Amino acid sequence: MKRVLITGGAGFLGSHLCDRFIKEGHYVIAMDNLITGDLRNIEHLFKHPNFEFYHHDVSKFIHVPGELDYILHFASPASPIDYLKIPIQTLKVGSLGIHNCLGLARVKKARVIIASTSEVYGDPLVHPQTEEYWGHVNPVGPRGVYDEAKRFQEAMTMAYHTYHGVETRIVRIFNTYGPRMRLNDGRVLPAFIGQALRGEDLTIFGDGSQTRSFCFVADLVEGIYRLLLSDYAYPVNIGNPAEITIKQFAEEIIKLTGTDQKIVYKPLPKDDPKQRQPDITKAKEILGWEPKVTRAEGLAITYDYFRNLPKERLYEESNHRD
Ligand code: NAD
Ligand code: UDP
Repeated sequence: MKRVLITGGAGFLGSHLCDRFIKEGHYVIAMDNLITGDLRNIEHLFKHPNFEFYHHDVSKFIHVPGELDYILHFASPASPIDYLKIPIQTLKVGSLGIHNCLGLARVKKARVIIASTSEVYGDPLVHPQTEEYWGHVNPVGPRGVYDEAKRFQEAMTMAYHTYHGVETRIVRIFNTYGPRMRLNDGRVLPAFIGQALRGEDLTIFGDGSQTRSFCFVADLVEGIYRLLLSDYAYPVNIGNPAEITIKQFAEEIIKLTGTDQKIVYKPLPKDDPKQRQPDITKAKEILGWEPKVTRAEGLAITYDYFRNLPKERLYEESNHRD
């Protein structure tokens, strides 16, 4: 049994990682300040003997008693609407937060994996994006608070690896979706499904020709698990290369939900990436990993989750960017 610290453990991805490590028989400490997370994502684990929850801001000194084998640093606002609302906290958790995690790892001789992102490539000029691409990021644009925090986080992680010999792993996550996303977090999938369930029109930003490549959460978790157990310290893209325009995506959601609502067009946010698709050659070669869940399968599971939520959750504070 390994002792595992998961920061951001009450969030969308963090909670699925808690489930996976518990299922593998490990002891899990989830740490979260609940700034964008939700205890309802992990309440089913509260009575589990191998699970503990610490309410703590990881940008402040982290104290965990006892040994630790793995630290998964997943704490960070992740949706554009969140990190635009709390830009300083976003920069702090990507810088002070990872510094604290790496310092803790050094003391505990733990292995660290950090949640990096396709946003390190910015609005990419290389397509699909390989790990060798250095990116095209506007440091002083609205998304800079997230993108640069994540780039700094990678640099800090590499420095602890090189200069202090800490065992580190870097996963560059591409758009991932699934149950436990927050309906009002502004990301495109919960936005569209929430709108369909509330009987509102679906809002496309720009003309909908921008592309994304959506990965189902179970596939992502498997990729992260394999990367953590591998001996590869350089960044690895994990995502589903099936690329789609946002307009096609809206049409898929309309068909899936059977909504009578129409599509309305809103201005494209500044610096919104025009295209995004992971090159997953490295993940295939190093981890023997590739996604297994098709978008049709993943969307059906996700829609089932959202439509079975209590009705009042559809109307929890809405963060729409309009
Ligand atoms: P999320 O908002 O659901 O989860 C983030 C969690 O981190 C929340 O529970 C939040 O309360 C917690 N948190 C934030 N700041 C904290 C702090 N200072 N101290 C303690 N806890 C803090 O988002 P998510 O989609 O689950 O994203 C998780 C991680 O994965 C993030 O680091 C994000 O950047 C990264 N990521 C996600 C995606 C995606 O498509 N979901 C893509 C790329 C990268
Ligand atoms: N988007 C949209 N309508 C919405 C929310 C998002 O058209 O209601 C677009 C957004 O402008 C972007 C894409 O969907 O081009 C994905 O947005 P998301 O916030 O999910 O992720 P990211 O931009 O970080 O990839």
